Amino acid sequence: MIRISKPFLSENNNRIRCNCDIYFNKEKKTLWFEVDKKYADYLCVERGDAYLIGILHYAMSKKMDIVCDVPITEELLYNINKILIPSLTKYAKTLYKITITAEIAKPLMKGQHNGTGCSCGIDSFSAIFNHMNTEYKNMDVTHVCINNVGAFNECYSKYGIEKVKNERYQKTKEVAKFLKLELIETDSNYQSIICENHLMTHTYSSVFAIYMLQKFWRNYYYASSGLDYSHFNIVDNDIDDCSHYELLSLQCFSIPGLKIYSEGGEKTRLEKTKEIVDYQPAQKYLHVCLEKSTNCNICSKCMRTLVTLDALGKLDNFSSVFDINYYKNNKIIYYKWLYEQHFMKNIINEPVFKIFKKENKFRGKILIYIPFIYIKCKIILFTKHIKNKIPQTTKNKKKKIVGKHS
Ligand SMILES: [Zn+2]
Repeated sequence: MIRISKPFLSENNNRIRCNCDIYFNKEKKTLWFEVDKKYADYLCVERGDAYLIGILHYAMSKKMDIVCDVPITEELLYNINKILIPSLTKYAKTLYKITITAEIAKPLMKGQHNGTGCSCGIDSFSAIFNHMNTEYKNMDVTHVCINNVGAFNECYSKYGIEKVKNERYQKTKEVAKFLKLELIETDSNYQSIICENHLMTHTYSSVFAIYMLQKFWRNYYYASSGLDYSHFNIVDNDIDDCSHYELLSLQCFSIPGLKIYSEGGEKTRLEKTKEIVDYQPAQKYLHVCLEKSTNCNICSKCMRTLVTLDALGKLDNFSSVFDINYYKNNKIIYYKWLYEQHFMKNIINEPVFKIFKKENKFRGKILIYIPFIYIKCKIILFTKHIKNKIPQTTKNKKKKIVGKHS
């Protein structure tokens, strides 16, 4: 069982921290979230909503019921109990129906601001671009945020997770200044308390951060998916990117007075990229890299972005954030990678592949490599297929046997 205690505040110089003791069976861990002192009045200690959302996926995967000592907003508990848990557990082999025990309470209805994340990726700049100076004044973004709830993870371990985090926080300050928007910098030990795969749980961790400032937000635009709404999917949701069912989860996490949007789902990532290729803040500050605090040019996200910019004929617009000359002199590497993505049936990169095909960009040396890439990908796909066919129990037995002898 997981017990969520009543949160309490503590101060440290100009920062204010909201702490919550969470008991995992008998083990106590203190989950904290902190922000600049000027946002102190907006930190929510009257509801356990943030903690329930933040811990929900973990509890379902560990089959642990939740008891909350702080009230939960009625609509949120209804949405989670009646819609989200039954839907997810129905289509996941490793998620379980759990019981949540909590007093229910009315929504706080205090938020007056609109926000979105400022990770400086394609989705993030697209969300900002679409919510500044629009005809819908009350929907425009008033603040941007940078949170530390899982995005700065193991993928940066070679360069240094803390180093990437600090350098990105610094850069984000510049971006917010350039955009003339106020930046809310938050910090948390969330990812060391609730250890889960970031890809499968980022919606929960990000909404945890949003709900920590539940009394601040009226609308929040959460932009995470490279696929449009036609790819909504909850089948096998425990082994896939949780953004694929955000239309459902974010609807369940929205309550009267706080609406969280699955932002940009009407567009593919290619369409989002097209939208911001002439947007100066993106040209100056785009950061997509999975390796370091600047763009490395060669990790999968850098490659994806570079081939997309090439497909759109806008490479030179991004010469201050990518080494465009390297790309131009080593196109064969990127073309091979794009072919691999095609043969591996990666749907995010397929629209770019189609443009390359249509415009006859695959010429010269690359043609020699195609059959080899095809065979390599077929072998990988076949191996994956065989692995998936082996029942989980057999895999576990094998693991135990290996463990005994090693
Ligand atoms: Zn990179």
